[in-house]
Amino acid sequence: MSTSTRSFAAQSATSPLASYTLERRTPTDSDVAIEILYCGVCHSDLHQARNEWHNSIYPVVPGHEIVGRVTSVGSFVTKFRQGDLVAVGCMVDSCRTCPQCLRGLEQYCDNDLTLTYNSPDKHTGLRTYGGYSEAVVVDEAFVLRVPETLDPAAAAPLLCAGITTYSPLKHWNVGPGQKVGIVGLGGLGHMGVKFAHAFGAEVVLFTTSPGKVEDGKRLGADQVVISKNADEMQKHARSFDFILDCVSAEHDINAYLNLLKVDGTLCLVGAPENPLPVAAFNLLMGRRQFAGSGIGGIKETQEMLDFCGEHNVTSDIEMIDIQQINEAYERLLKSDVKYRFVIDMASIKQ
Ligand code: NAP
Ligand code: ZN
Ligand code: ZN
Repeated sequence: MSTSTRSFAAQSATSPLASYTLERRTPTDSDVAIEILYCGVCHSDLHQARNEWHNSIYPVVPGHEIVGRVTSVGSFVTKFRQGDLVAVGCMVDSCRTCPQCLRGLEQYCDNDLTLTYNSPDKHTGLRTYGGYSEAVVVDEAFVLRVPETLDPAAAAPLLCAGITTYSPLKHWNVGPGQKVGIVGLGGLGHMGVKFAHAFGAEVVLFTTSPGKVEDGKRLGADQVVISKNADEMQKHARSFDFILDCVSAEHDINAYLNLLKVDGTLCLVGAPENPLPVAAFNLLMGRRQFAGSGIGGIKETQEMLDFCGEHNVTSDIEMIDIQQINEAYERLLKSDVKYRFVIDMASIKQ
């Protein structure tokens, strides 16, 4: 038996998202059933709804920045109770036995990572469906606890934009005495600015949008550079310890490699559709590193949420109804969001 659940889905790469009824599995003994209150809108949702990563299987129900209340728990569940404020991010299961899973890096599972949507679903034999829906059923091992002190709507984007920027900043030990660049002030970028500032680094924001300069400073950047201005870029040549690239579209990565010090690292978290050319000498002459990072493990995601609870860090959000999702996607493509759309899921009952 399963439960009919209202959602919004893309039926093809070119069709707008529209109302769709999906079936959620009957909770198992280790499952948590969650009523979804809010779901953030990540640029990855748009990439996948439109098959820009060439692996979408339709219908696609996007959404992996989920905050909700527990409605029931299975008999083996120990961590959560009915009524708890909880969250689900980009993953809902993994093999749990490979070396990556055992060291808390489930996102890099060698065998069997189950993403929150558009992944094969072991339970149903179909696909997983994400958070643009009224309810979800998730194994307790992949459910996070949200500090009750945080605004639950503004906490939703922490589940992807938050952890995706927190994790590399931690991994590369960003902190006091370091000069750190954040490229692109969107959902990920604005969380990157907040975290890098909170960790005590000198933060420089690179943006293509002159209208975001003041916001960049308010969010924690010490300086803001308009990346289209070559002279302004040149002033920062060979000066950065670490740069986090949060851009969703094609852009010149070499312009940023040249801003790194000797042994500096440029880490991509943005995931544009097409490959980015790298000029070899920009890496060779400075022993620079070009790296990448994907979301973060469950333990680190909980650590990040607890950090946000202690330091009152959340996302700057613009709340929308689910019926406005297609318009929101068009605005995302124009870099016109301040700085994360969050769907008020009560609107799905309209
Ligand atoms: P977003 O809110 O749309 O922000 C992207 C920002 O990139 C824009 O606000 C804009 O910033 C900049 N930008 C857009 N087009 C550009 C262009 N043509 N040239 C230069 N800059 C441009 O997107 P998001 O949700 O933060 O996601 C960003 C990327 O990260 C997406 O590709 C997404 O799929 C990926 N992602 C990766 C992971 C991971 O695990 N690694 C997780 C989540 C998302 P300015 O206006 O400031 O220039
Ligand atoms: Zn995401
Ligand atoms: Zn694994």
